[in-house]
Amino acid sequence: MRVLIHLDGSVADPDAPQVRVDDLGLLRGDGVFETVLVSGGHARELDKHLDRLERSASMLDMDTPDRQAWQRAVAAAIERWPEGSEMALKLVYTRGLDSDPSAGPTAFALGIEVSEGLLRARAEGIAVVTLERGIDTDLAARAPWLLLGAKSLSYGINMAAMREAERRGAEDVIFTAGDGTVLEGPIANVVVADGGTLYTPPPSIGILPGTTQAGLFRAAERAGWSTKIEPLRIEDLRGADGVFLTSSIRKVTRVHTLDGVQLPDSRTLHAELAAAYESEYPG
Ligand code: PLP
Repeated sequence: MRVLIHLDGSVADPDAPQVRVDDLGLLRGDGVFETVLVSGGHARELDKHLDRLERSASMLDMDTPDRQAWQRAVAAAIERWPEGSEMALKLVYTRGLDSDPSAGPTAFALGIEVSEGLLRARAEGIAVVTLERGIDTDLAARAPWLLLGAKSLSYGINMAAMREAERRGAEDVIFTAGDGTVLEGPIANVVVADGGTLYTPPPSIGILPGTTQAGLFRAAERAGWSTKIEPLRIEDLRGADGVFLTSSIRKVTRVHTLDGVQLPDSRTLHAELAAAYESEYPG
């Protein structure tokens, strides 16, 4: 099941050709995107996703996305999606055509199903490996042209890292900086639970500010947890009560094994945090 809505509101066939071959999103990964989870007919954290789309577009010197048009496209996609199953809704916004810059951005919302693998990972947890990302934690501030912290369409490195994880018998990655500081996953943020506090690294080190991490922290605070946004090191992960990867599609996924070593059993903790996170949203 898939649904495709162009930003002008037109409904299109996701199995038919839609994008020109000289689209700069296709030729150069030059564009930005978001992936929104729609559950029970509700688009989770839509405002925050649209804020981040705007921020990413601004980092790439692209025109400000038309917020109301995106809201309408999201509503149209939800209307066409069958009740009862989750939708991963990708909002894609490219720089448009190489041959005709005046044509403006290419923009569409594509709804797809959440894969069986991701659903299983949410329920059972995952093995993760740490991989070097080759950046320093002050690079984002020093070199804004590297677009660290923008959700650009250039995810080739992220996907290569996921394949490397698979080669090492794991299902996901935690990127580290040269000095061993924890960054993020290729498609998720890192959250650590220890002694009644949740920790996540600050976006200033060149990672995405996660909408799921923020939703989880809000929910956890309501449930009595304290939360801290501060740098983490790999050693902090190994001894913690729980390590989680959070993303719109992963939700709160438990890491049970890190670099081949089993972590302390965090199943009860995970159930508590996952329930708190779910309670944030209708449906
Ligand atoms: N970090 C990266 C690199 C991502 O691609 C994503 C989401 O896809 C996230 C973090 C998590 O963001 P969110 O929770 O807003 O989905």
